[in-house]
Amino acid sequence: MSRDENLIKSLEELKKIGIINDSITAIKHIPARQGRYMAYPSDVHPALIKALQEKGFTRLYTHQNLSWQLIKEGKNIVIVTPTASGKTLCYNLPVLDSILKNPSARAIYMFPTKALSQDQRAELDETIKLLPEEIRIFTYDGDTPQDARKAIRARGHIILTNPDMLHAGILPHHTKWIKLFENLQYVVIDELHNYRGIFGSHLANILRRLKRIANFYGASPQFILSTATISNPLEMAEKITEEPVSLVDENGAPQGEKYFVFYNPPVVNKFLGIRRSYVNESRRVASIFLKNGLQTIVFAQSRLITEVLVTYLKEDIEKTIQQKGLIRGYRGGYLPLKRREIEKKLREGKIRGVVSTNALELGIDIGSLDVAVLAGYPGTITSTWQMAGRAGRKSGKSAAVLVGTSSPLGQFIINNPDYFFSKNPENALINPDNLSILVSHIECAAFELPFVEGEKFGSQEIGEILKFLVDEKLVHFSKGKWFWTSDAYPADGVNLRSISSDNFVVVDTTEKSKAIAEVDFSSALTALHPKAIYLCEGEQYFVENLDFEQRKAYVKKTDVDYYTDAIDYTKIKILDSFDQKNLGKCDISHGEVHVATQVVGFKKIKFHTMENVGSGDLSLPQNEMHTTAYWLTIPSQIFHSLSFASEEKINGLFGLTYCLHHVSPLFMMCDLRDVGVSVGDNSTGKSVPPRDIRQKTSHKEDKDIFSDIDFEPNIFIFDNFPGGIGLSPSLFDLEKELLKQCLKTIAACPCKEGCPSCLGPVKESGKQAKEVALEILRIIIN
Ligand SMILES: [Zn+2]
Repeated sequence: MSRDENLIKSLEELKKIGIINDSITAIKHIPARQGRYMAYPSDVHPALIKALQEKGFTRLYTHQNLSWQLIKEGKNIVIVTPTASGKTLCYNLPVLDSILKNPSARAIYMFPTKALSQDQRAELDETIKLLPEEIRIFTYDGDTPQDARKAIRARGHIILTNPDMLHAGILPHHTKWIKLFENLQYVVIDELHNYRGIFGSHLANILRRLKRIANFYGASPQFILSTATISNPLEMAEKITEEPVSLVDENGAPQGEKYFVFYNPPVVNKFLGIRRSYVNESRRVASIFLKNGLQTIVFAQSRLITEVLVTYLKEDIEKTIQQKGLIRGYRGGYLPLKRREIEKKLREGKIRGVVSTNALELGIDIGSLDVAVLAGYPGTITSTWQMAGRAGRKSGKSAAVLVGTSSPLGQFIINNPDYFFSKNPENALINPDNLSILVSHIECAAFELPFVEGEKFGSQEIGEILKFLVDEKLVHFSKGKWFWTSDAYPADGVNLRSISSDNFVVVDTTEKSKAIAEVDFSSALTALHPKAIYLCEGEQYFVENLDFEQRKAYVKKTDVDYYTDAIDYTKIKILDSFDQKNLGKCDISHGEVHVATQVVGFKKIKFHTMENVGSGDLSLPQNEMHTTAYWLTIPSQIFHSLSFASEEKINGLFGLTYCLHHVSPLFMMCDLRDVGVSVGDNSTGKSVPPRDIRQKTSHKEDKDIFSDIDFEPNIFIFDNFPGGIGLSPSLFDLEKELLKQCLKTIAACPCKEGCPSCLGPVKESGKQAKEVALEILRIIIN
């Protein structure tokens, strides 16, 4: 049988299982697309055309041609095309051409991971070997030997690096890189969608510093960015570069036909809303394709699940000695050599099945496979398409299967395939002007070059901040300029993945003590409290002790079937309302808030079923911050007129809060823990204790809040980073959309009174929670 026939046969087998269990919610057929081509433009250097044709690129795709035209007109561009559509040629063509025509031209390429930069390096090397002139490419990252660095600085045409190295290794030492900055013509930023949230907010400031230094040496580089499909590529590109950018999003690459299947593990306990484990179901689905000889990639959400699935699939597929090695794992933590071997064998078709973490989501070249199985919703529509794109050849059929998890987001997506297929993916959000981030980069910039009076930093006026730095004795004002005077080296104090540098170190004491991770100050209390299960790269660790003074958490490896969820009591005070909107029956607002969080206990939640299997009390210091929040106000007369008992109304209110929290990442490229929630009273401004506490203690005062006739619920969703990273205004702009999707999620859930897929852990959501939450939503959405 041909590969196409095997694929159709496998899909039929999958459908049969699906029909028995009523577990297939969609089979989307995506028709084949013809390639659209153009000849090389006549102004490309002939030697480059010759080299590329020798490599097999006989002509260009239309989007590669368009990129060329726009670059030659002097524009900045952002390229939005899927995996394996030839986007690297969009930037390699103009860059190599410019260097051939002017050997002093220079370019910086930035990649988010080392593996990707090695991969791109190999690709460039192959082309350069075929060129008559020498073009020198160097990787400049943490692994670059000291003695090689000098040569790279003087001689490299193209520097392949990453934001960390640019920030700490290149910009502060710009005087050693004069040749690069004087002649800097292009800055290439690959996988732009990776730079969202804090990391992206830092990168925007690093680019402000880069442009400032380049301008100092008389250069103003063009930016070439590429991204996976996000809903706001142009906005994101312009925000991160602070330059006008042109969009290239017409993909000219051919694509074979594809089937996209949504598979929801069957319900085994309807009352509690428990489904069969998505891990076992993913194994079942992948085995069907693998047994039919199809090359399959399975994406797992953690290292632990990756290893579990590798073991399962080996049992299913590797039945004889000859079949050994057909199934492999792939994840961070494997040695580079092993990774290269797996990548190569995948390209050659020697490995039939690979189970991977999202490490293979990025553009590493593994060739095109037949099938992609996603064990669980990866959290964003963007990632889902990226992973699904790993299956699919230029011609011939391919398939992708998404296996749903029990989280509200996972269930929402799997039950609303139309939403998935018709919607644009999420907005990537950054906030370069987050005050802490901004100040830390102004310090770095002042170290690099003195600020002149009246000078802006990017689009920001910074006179006030510089005066503050004078008071802090970090800069000194003299003859119209601000000079860095401190002995400190400011780039060292900045962590590009967090807002402040005040982190907790996680120390593994299983054998010898060694640091395994750093955790943000703001998430340390919830992730590293005593008795917490801390997950790091798929391994489980038990937290034995949290040393608050020393900022250290001591952990030991463990293997349990639950994870922990901190119970915190978060009090929110509204400081300033930036905007308010009436949606007919309710109000929404966003603004600045003061958040005080205290972790008071924790719950043990069983994997897969998400049952609550235990709890404990804790008393930890309070953590305070200023940030931004979105809040929904349910008018008191609507809340009080609901025809339910008082306790039931409260259950519904907290259930709704859980749902809003869990569904909100649907619209933003962020993790669940990037946003926090709390309930407050709009009439008094007081906060309400979370239900976990309410159920345990019977604080008279707390009970009174709800029975007060003026009680008007505010449900807050706050940006869980000091200063905010832009999440709350984007929720505010959604108007009724967030509420509508919550209504859909709850209404579609098969449980009776609320479950982890809609309103919260079993038995916690309480009596009538589901009815009340639905009633509130129906009234306010109207
Ligand atoms: Zn439910």
